[in-house]
Amino acid sequence: MRSITIGYHDIAPGPLESVSRTARFPRSVYTLDRGAFREHLAAIRSSRGRTIGLVGTPGNNGSETPIFLTFDDGYLSSYTIVADELERYNWRGHFFIPTDWIGRAGYMDADQIRELRRRGHLIGSHSCSHPERMSALPMADLLWEWARSCAILESILGEAVNTASVPNGYHSRAVTTAASAAGIRVLFTSEPTSAERHDGECRVLGRYALQRRARAATAGAIAAGHIRPRWKQSLWWHAREPVKMLTGDSYFLLRRWLLSRAVH
Ligand SMILES: [Zn+2]
Repeated sequence: MRSITIGYHDIAPGPLESVSRTARFPRSVYTLDRGAFREHLAAIRSSRGRTIGLVGTPGNNGSETPIFLTFDDGYLSSYTIVADELERYNWRGHFFIPTDWIGRAGYMDADQIRELRRRGHLIGSHSCSHPERMSALPMADLLWEWARSCAILESILGEAVNTASVPNGYHSRAVTTAASAAGIRVLFTSEPTSAERHDGECRVLGRYALQRRARAATAGAIAAGHIRPRWKQSLWWHAREPVKMLTGDSYFLLRRWLLSRAVH
């Protein structure tokens, strides 16, 4: 049974325009405000025949396509906003933490991560340092990022951590091979696909990452399994691939510049 994963990041407590004037940290193109996030969840809920679940958890009956919701980067809003909003529907989410950021201003601390887990959410690795380009790292560094971040989360939670997501969407065969070697059994990439593959013992899943401008109806349509919005995301993703390959670092700099221009 194929799953569909929708990826989110930070959720702002109020309207983004008013928040941005006083915010200590810039908001990225992936930040939704709480009202928009609620609309997204309501639209996802209205998609029929779907179970919002956690990867690796039995209980989805054979007629349903499980929907997974992921939240990257360990933002404080995961604890102060997202968990409450999900639990209103009795849903649980996947929270992926860059362990070097634990306890920083604007991000969750160890106690908050522990509480999310206690409430039934899944905690996974998002590397240690959140490398800008993970796929450019040598194998030893990849192993270090995956193995150390899982070990830190395991020491916080007191249980095995074997789920992860790739920072910044730069995945490669080496990134997944290192994840598998580090004991990770489920790895979410940022490739917008519902197709699954395996690398060693590691199950590799794509995600549809929604930006601030994404309408709630788009989230609902993706969750409902409609092809068109997923195809559009896939087209955009693959259209960037030749640019990435041709220009290398210049693509990377252009991307950073574009993102910085898009920040409020
Ligand atoms: Zn990230």
